Amino acid sequence: MRQVRSLIETTSRCLYCQNTFSERPGWNWVFSFHKQEPLCQRCRDMFVRIEGDVCRDCGRPSEESAETDTCQDCRQWQTDSFWESNSFQHRALYAYNDFMKDVIKTLKYTGDVALVDLFAEDLRKLVDKHVRHTVAIPIPITKKRAFERGFNQAEQLGRAFTLTHALERVDSGEQQSKRTRKERIDALDGAFQVTSTLDPSQLNNQSVVIIDDVYTTGATLRAAAKPLLEAGAARVFAVTVARS
Ligand SMILES: [Zn+2]
Ligand SMILES: [Zn+2]
Repeated sequence: MRQVRSLIETTSRCLYCQNTFSERPGWNWVFSFHKQEPLCQRCRDMFVRIEGDVCRDCGRPSEESAETDTCQDCRQWQTDSFWESNSFQHRALYAYNDFMKDVIKTLKYTGDVALVDLFAEDLRKLVDKHVRHTVAIPIPITKKRAFERGFNQAEQLGRAFTLTHALERVDSGEQQSKRTRKERIDALDGAFQVTSTLDPSQLNNQSVVIIDDVYTTGATLRAAAKPLLEAGAARVFAVTVARS
């Protein structure tokens, strides 16, 4: 029996921290091909899934004293006449904690395929739970970044979708980090446009999904959603791996 068990028990290297760990498969191993667990228990525990009540629009976990179904940030966005009359929603899989910051950084700079695998299917499931979409669009990166990295992480994260490359970046050439929050939001407005090769009827009255790695202020995703809504999309649903 011991021999059988040691045959079944496998030692894996954690995809994230690189430590080795052993796992003893459950009953499903007997019936299906054994799919190796990519992460050790310690790393698995650090992923904090966003669950429970969230802001209707941006998906921020609700504070107990919340009196309305949208958060203050979203009410602020709605003072803008465009956002008052257009439908934008966002949901994320995980909280953007220090661990997640590291994971996203690794994802951005290495494009680790196994790491992408951890999220790609779940992003699709999250979308399916909320919207019957017709078009799925990855948030494009600047040409300069694409050249440096050779890939776009949003595209990789969207690989459980049939992707339409409907957006392109209007490169302003300036460094984001040197600006204040207000300046960044203003500069982002107009940072994206619908590609000239897209047939506009593809967006008309459609529910559109946009995919990115992280939601921070929402400014980037709204800037990307705007030209799609202006081009006739009925609503934009954004999905990310993590939100702050
Ligand atoms: Zn680990
Ligand atoms: Zn909100």
